[in-house]
Amino acid sequence: MLNEVKVFETFFEIIPFGVTVVDINNFELIYLNEIAKTMFNAEPGQQCFSAIKRTTSPCLDCKRSVLVDDHDLPNNTRATYEIFNEIDDRWYQCHSKIISWPDGRTVMYNLFVDIMNLKETQNNLAEAHAMLAIKNKELEAIAATDRLTGLYNRLKLDSVFNSALRYCKRYNRPLVVIMLDIDKFKSINDTFGHQVGDTTLKELALILGKNLRQTDTVGRWGGEEFLIICPETDISQATFAAQKLRSAIAEHNFPTVKHITCSFGISQYQNADAEDDIIKRADEALYAAKRNGRNRVEVS
Ligand code: GH3
Ligand code: MG
Ligand code: MG
Repeated sequence: MLNEVKVFETFFEIIPFGVTVVDINNFELIYLNEIAKTMFNAEPGQQCFSAIKRTTSPCLDCKRSVLVDDHDLPNNTRATYEIFNEIDDRWYQCHSKIISWPDGRTVMYNLFVDIMNLKETQNNLAEAHAMLAIKNKELEAIAATDRLTGLYNRLKLDSVFNSALRYCKRYNRPLVVIMLDIDKFKSINDTFGHQVGDTTLKELALILGKNLRQTDTVGRWGGEEFLIICPETDISQATFAAQKLRSAIAEHNFPTVKHITCSFGISQYQNADAEDDIIKRADEALYAAKRNGRNRVEVS
């Protein structure tokens, strides 16, 4: 019998992981290989929970109950779980199984595999994923933003417009777009220089942002032209909003150039409209506003 115990112990000694053997009836540590002795700073004869976990009763990690049947006999299964060892500050994956020890006792042997590097890799991976998610959000914002004005760019306007159009068709709701263009902007560049032109565009963007409803979307359509998408809005409400904007711009005191005006074209979605008919009509209305003297609002 002693020889058989020795065979077991020799076998456990050559395993390159920590191994402990515990009597499942009194939790006595009856064997630890050299690696486990160092890992836990423990010796045979101690109770496993007090030696390893420094607790006064069986610890929460203990898998004894799931490894025996109703008669407290080994059920031939193996439990795999992770534990943190406070002695060496490392994570281990633990494999536990209950067997009969050569001296007749029923014991649980536990194999401890160091997974600290794996844990570190997992943590780094989780961190990398989080960083990527943040960067992705930043990239999305950059891709949607006009660099000069900070408003949505044409790309983003297209996507907002397409969703608004789908919604308005599906639920038969009103949708209006307002196109506006700075009057005689070329002469501002010619008189004051391109940089002043840029500052004027930025200042105008602030006015547009400030004077619209939260549900409206405004963006730079191109050059000195802007598009406003107004869901759940009819022509008369949109005309009112455009007139309000027109006066806000005309009355605003712009740096250097002092006063500018804008012309507006408005169009409402109609049932037979193809994709961008509504935008084309707003554009035509805008050019009617230009023809009719500028600094005015025309409805398609
Ligand atoms: P209209 O009243 O008919 O709209 O006259 P306009 O001079 O505003 O129109 P036109 O299309 O002749 O000129 C538009 C000008 O807008 C020309 C272009 O250089 C200027 N522009 C377009 N984008 C920018 C920009 O980002 N910065 C500056 N500074 N100017 C721009
Ligand atoms: Mg213009
Ligand atoms: Mg223009």
